[in-house]
Amino acid sequence: MTVEELIIYGKQFVHSTHAKMILADLLGVNSLELLNYLKQKVEEEIVNNYKQRINALKEKKPIQYVIGNVNFYGNQFKVNENVLIPRFETEELVENTLNYIEEIFPSNNLKVIDLGTGSGCIGITLKKKNSLLDVTLLDISKEALEVAKENATNLQTEVTLIQNDMLENLIDKYDVIISNPPYIKENEEIEEIVKNNEPHLALYAGIDGLDCYKKILKEAPNHINDKFLIALEIGESQKEDIIRLAEEIFPNAVMDSKKDLQGRDRMIFIYQK
Ligand code: GLN
Repeated sequence: MTVEELIIYGKQFVHSTHAKMILADLLGVNSLELLNYLKQKVEEEIVNNYKQRINALKEKKPIQYVIGNVNFYGNQFKVNENVLIPRFETEELVENTLNYIEEIFPSNNLKVIDLGTGSGCIGITLKKKNSLLDVTLLDISKEALEVAKENATNLQTEVTLIQNDMLENLIDKYDVIISNPPYIKENEEIEEIVKNNEPHLALYAGIDGLDCYKKILKEAPNHINDKFLIALEIGESQKEDIIRLAEEIFPNAVMDSKKDLQGRDRMIFIYQK
């Protein structure tokens, strides 16, 4: 079959943009370049692979898992069912954190830990943006860490990887703790496509969705230096609860919250200069 025929085939089942994205990815070109090859014949093996992927998409798999990678802050990250699909809001968490780092710390040789790193998108992006940072990626899931490791290698970033349950029993101290932990309430309604495909370990965090924040904040004092920054992505209704928790543990720290581009409270920064 030709490129054109394959696009027409795909369009019967899924959105044409998605059909083109899948084919372009398989052929190693971008969706626009694809249009230069419309009459070209495609190898049997790629045709079969394409049809399987169209089918997976038709069966309501997220496009990011079907293609197997996603763009985050300008870099391609591999993703699969073992990791959460990186979201736009998380790019904002990274961007704001880079600004806070500059504001809070006079030097650049900082130790940073990304808790619940998943694909590694947060920690790897920080390292790419500021190569002087000493970055550790941590996750409880071995399978997630394998993805993070592959991403670190593909993107040529030197990072340390640790399999652990948050900060429990770690010895090192850090200047920056950053995390986009699971924060959905056990009984909360979420989109079907998310619930049916993304790892529940990365989504749910107890009855009030606060389990991971409680764990991070409780353990943090033993794992941070005098000057520190804790940067957290949060659910839009969790700001007050998390600030209250943080104030009990860090009565002298500054607490800022930030809204995402859609105007929802989605980030908290706790720091001491
Ligand atoms: N840190 C990863 C991300 O931001 C994974 C987050 C998670 O699994 N809760 O995408």
